[in-house]
Amino acid sequence: MSDSIKYLLDESAIPKQWYNIQADLPTPLSPVLHPGTGQPIGPDDLAPLFPMELIAQEVSQERYIDIPEPVREVYRQWRCTPLYRARRLEKALDTPARIYYKYEGVSPSGSHKPNTAVPQAFYNKQAGVKRLTTETGAGQWGSSLAYAGHVFGIEVKVFMVKVSFQQKPYRKAMMQTYGATCVASPSEETQAGRAILEKNPDSTGSLGIAISEAVEQAVMADDTKYALGSVLNHVLMHQTVLGEESILQMEMADDYPDVIVGCTGGGSNFAGIAFPYLGRNLRDGQSTRIVAVEPAACPSLTRGRFAYDFGDTAKMTPLVKMHTLGSQFVPSGFHAGGLRYHGMGPLVSHVVDLGYVEPRAYNQVTCFEAGIEFARAEGIIPAPEATHAVKGAIDEAMRCKAEGKSEAILFNLCGHGHFDMQAYIDFFDGKIADQTYDESELAMALAGLPSVAA
Ligand SMILES: *Cc1c(COP(=O)(O)O)cnc(C)c1O
Repeated sequence: MSDSIKYLLDESAIPKQWYNIQADLPTPLSPVLHPGTGQPIGPDDLAPLFPMELIAQEVSQERYIDIPEPVREVYRQWRCTPLYRARRLEKALDTPARIYYKYEGVSPSGSHKPNTAVPQAFYNKQAGVKRLTTETGAGQWGSSLAYAGHVFGIEVKVFMVKVSFQQKPYRKAMMQTYGATCVASPSEETQAGRAILEKNPDSTGSLGIAISEAVEQAVMADDTKYALGSVLNHVLMHQTVLGEESILQMEMADDYPDVIVGCTGGGSNFAGIAFPYLGRNLRDGQSTRIVAVEPAACPSLTRGRFAYDFGDTAKMTPLVKMHTLGSQFVPSGFHAGGLRYHGMGPLVSHVVDLGYVEPRAYNQVTCFEAGIEFARAEGIIPAPEATHAVKGAIDEAMRCKAEGKSEAILFNLCGHGHFDMQAYIDFFDGKIADQTYDESELAMALAGLPSVAA
């Protein structure tokens, strides 16, 4: 057995179109509802938040949507990203499985997030927007939008979940380096933030709260719009560049995945790797298994309800049907900050509900162990979020070993962990424990779900 293999594509192979799985679904998504009337919303309802091009992509049923040339131009900075065959890891596991991973950590901010930050900034610039507000959990999204905003000359304001703001000062510095402003959420700057602080001055924040703050500032100003780094249909679609590239790279390897594994926060990096293959399952009769891995401490797919809910804590967003733990659920401060969201992207929820995807939850200690095993074999230190995908892939490889099967496993290594070394320090100091959630708090959050006729 030789060393790990890298499959590289020329930049001319950067996809010219994003793949929209909505074209291939047997049943459409449930409509997005107005929070006041409970009626399906139209494009105009979303206009205060997003430019029309993105709203059109959100509801498009076209299978492929052209990637604007200026966006491909910026993608060239780091795309195509490499795909590796993890032969050293295979050897360490002594598995007959062939393990492949797509590595998105080579982007400027170190994760898959710029794949959507760049087109979002581009379409907003085209629409004359001067300023974007957003939330960030671990900081990957905030730094990606800060970078993309700078590229297209748009001001960026980031509300960062307070627990991460304190755990990860370097992410804030990165946003500042790109010229963005970053404040800890809940903040005193918005009504939503002040309301939370009044009730709980020590609130460590959550993505749901930070979204409320960012949305509030966007709707208050005419020249300001809002950007979301996950969950929405157009965001998931932008990420398919990585999956489409991986199809070409798997062809270079003369192989095709039997199993695909991705980690899920709001579902975007998972959709990026999985949807192009799921589309082939639906259209061409392929039968790739698809596994979605989430943290056991924030288990929206495995423990949440598939129901209409708000995307934020202050109940300002439209209602979407998704797997949710309830918009009032505040997850514990475990380290994979990017996976700490109460809901799941409606498209990922929908394909899980249709039975096309196998959801799975892991505790964080076993994920860190898997991440370290991976780093020692392949040299790359995964982001804490990405360790969930690593763990899922290793488990599949061990199943292959037990069953004596030689399957091809492809997973998305969605980001590196260079800004997350405090989490690794804590792990080596024995300070990382499996965190759970409060069952009664979850029951309360679920009981508070809005009642919707549909
Ligand atoms: C943001 C982030 C996630 C979670 O978001 P998804 O939309 O589910 O992909 C996972 N991994 C990394 C590295 C991230 O930056």
